[in-house]
Amino acid sequence: MSLLPVADALQRLLQAASAEAPQPAERVPLANALNRILAETLYCAHDVPPWDNSAMDGYAFNSADLTEALSTGLRISQRITAGMAPPPLEAGTCARIFTGAPIPAGADSVEMQENIQLDAGIARFTQSVKPGQNVRPAGQDIRQGAAIMPVGQRLRAQDLGVIASAGIPAVSVRSALRVAVLSTGDELVEPGQALGPGQIFNSNRYTLIGCLQRMGQTIIDGGILPDDPDQTQTRLHELAAQADLIISSGGVSVGEADYLGMALREHGQLDMWKLAIKPGKPFTLARFADVPVLGLPGNPAATLVTFLLLVRPYLLRRLGMEQTEPLQLSVPAGFESSKAGNRDEYLRACLQNGQVVPAGNQSSGVLSSASEATGLILIPAGSVVKLGQPLAFLPFDGLFQ
Ligand code: AMP
Ligand code: MG
Repeated sequence: MSLLPVADALQRLLQAASAEAPQPAERVPLANALNRILAETLYCAHDVPPWDNSAMDGYAFNSADLTEALSTGLRISQRITAGMAPPPLEAGTCARIFTGAPIPAGADSVEMQENIQLDAGIARFTQSVKPGQNVRPAGQDIRQGAAIMPVGQRLRAQDLGVIASAGIPAVSVRSALRVAVLSTGDELVEPGQALGPGQIFNSNRYTLIGCLQRMGQTIIDGGILPDDPDQTQTRLHELAAQADLIISSGGVSVGEADYLGMALREHGQLDMWKLAIKPGKPFTLARFADVPVLGLPGNPAATLVTFLLLVRPYLLRRLGMEQTEPLQLSVPAGFESSKAGNRDEYLRACLQNGQVVPAGNQSSGVLSSASEATGLILIPAGSVVKLGQPLAFLPFDGLFQ
């Protein structure tokens, strides 16, 4: 069986995600909407700002009176602070005005206070002024009726600010997916328990919980599944009844104790298995009891890498996001590698003096190098790496979103 290229696998995952019923929408107050994905396109009911206002602390006037302002000066007829609703400007005068205060009817320009000489209630201009200067016109930021945020957008801090500026107090967002996290393997015990002979601590569970929490999804604890065919089927049925998605780690390789893979192949529907990715070759997409199962490889680095590169975009698409590509930068290699592989290889990597270098041990069983790293770099299948050659660098901060 040949290995499926990563790009093809990603496309199939996104298609599979699009084919699922859309997540229901829920209304949340704006203050709770950070990182949620919009289930509606938002429109602005009025101009932002709603009226012309001053960009400066200074003096508002009518540009038709500029010659007089420069020679004899203009009498200051009113004082306008932010929050006031000023009466129209008396003809042939100016108004003391502060940043954010409405421009009175009859005025069209503002001169900053630094360029004004005051003389017994008269403001004398010291230099020429461009008509309209220092005025922020109504609708400069957002026009009434404009679409301000498209459906499927993940809300960042500045997006919340924009929505608030339009006066919208609550938004409709996609509800979180209920994701069952299942660890497999007779060798696993939870941290806090005594480690017996042949046993290791379950680390993948925590990596996956962290990734899912970072993405704001609801986690169903699927526990540790022993390497046993009957229990595998029973547990899959139990989890499928409660979850929108099952994410497992381990048990999908080609070993005789890889009962999860067997159960998916024999009692579910296998969609894809074995990708041209390193680490992560045994990654599996399947369905069991009509619930999608993303089977991640057991090796801890492979669990992390396949979650970030494959599961994350799948989840985002299920939540209605069109754009699922992570932030990717082109950074020169600070190392060389003469061995071309037959899989796309993702190295845990650090940025050092503007270059990327592999972090620590790259064995798929080693996770501590992922902790030292700030992101992943891609060495495409069939490529070698020359010093200074640009490589795709994917910062973890982009991947964890
Ligand atoms: P498997 O795919 O089940 O053959 O597992 C591959 C490797 O990953 C083995 O060395 C397992 O012990 C290890 N492994 C599997 N699941 C976990 C886990 N949850 N935490 C840490 N290591 C794991
Ligand atoms: Mg196993």
